[in-house]
Amino acid sequence: MSLKVLLNGARGRMGEAILRAADPAIFDVCDRLDVDDEMEPAVERCDVIVDFSHHEATLHLVELAAAAGKPIVIGTTGHTAEARRQILSHQDRIAIVWSGNYSIGMNLLFYLTNRAAATLSELYEPEITEAHHHFKKDAPSGTAVDLARRICEGRQWDYDAVVVHGRSGITGERPARQIGMHAVRGGDVVGQHTVSFFGDGERVELKHLATDRKIFAQGALAAAKWVVGKPAGFYEMQDVLELRS
Ligand code: NAD
Repeated sequence: MSLKVLLNGARGRMGEAILRAADPAIFDVCDRLDVDDEMEPAVERCDVIVDFSHHEATLHLVELAAAAGKPIVIGTTGHTAEARRQILSHQDRIAIVWSGNYSIGMNLLFYLTNRAAATLSELYEPEITEAHHHFKKDAPSGTAVDLARRICEGRQWDYDAVVVHGRSGITGERPARQIGMHAVRGGDVVGQHTVSFFGDGERVELKHLATDRKIFAQGALAAAKWVVGKPAGFYEMQDVLELRS
């Protein structure tokens, strides 16, 4: 029997990619919701929720999911730290999969970034550059934030203390414990992320280039299939792919 999926943000670019990627033998995307649609009845009748909409929509949807005991896969990015905390406070009631990037290749890059940060000494200074299409409404990308988190895990650094967004004016010399984040916007770029470790005499660069949104859609659908029946908790695509470092 196919899984009943509630897709939120169904008229968006990712919503359309998910509708194209969903194999009808596995998924029945029975509710295709978008802005101003009523969510509660659809939450009640689905097996799993997939959200690729707008960051302001996620918390309400998670509250409805928690009340109905339905697992949710969140693809939406751009939440404030407080919104993220509120959303994740429901992880004791339902299974939440939440990744800034659902592609398999990028999840391998998360793993490699963590390993590189741990292996290379603090003399190798990390910087993250990301590029996206001109429609993207938030910066930096959720993926860039996740990459910075992987560096912090590898080095036992405090994310809030080390991340700086772009540089301008008299910034002073770069401290060793810093991660510079740089967001480039333009054209039809689906997604490009580069993690550079600048050393003295060499530079290590890890790069991922997305050319088609279907990689995120396929990953999110794999996560939706995986999460049904899982215990309450917070999971990432790394858990779905068993790629924990
Ligand atoms: P988009 O702007 O093309 O589509 C967003 C859709 O959500 C639109 O149809 C819009 O009408 C709808 N929407 C807006 N507010 C809503 C609300 N309150 N309730 C329901 N629907 C609402 O954007 P997109 O490129 O499809 O991306 C959607 C989100 O997914 C963004 O946050 C983006 O950064 C994120 N994204 C995540 C991944 C990932 O792998 N995690 C990959 C690509 C995009």
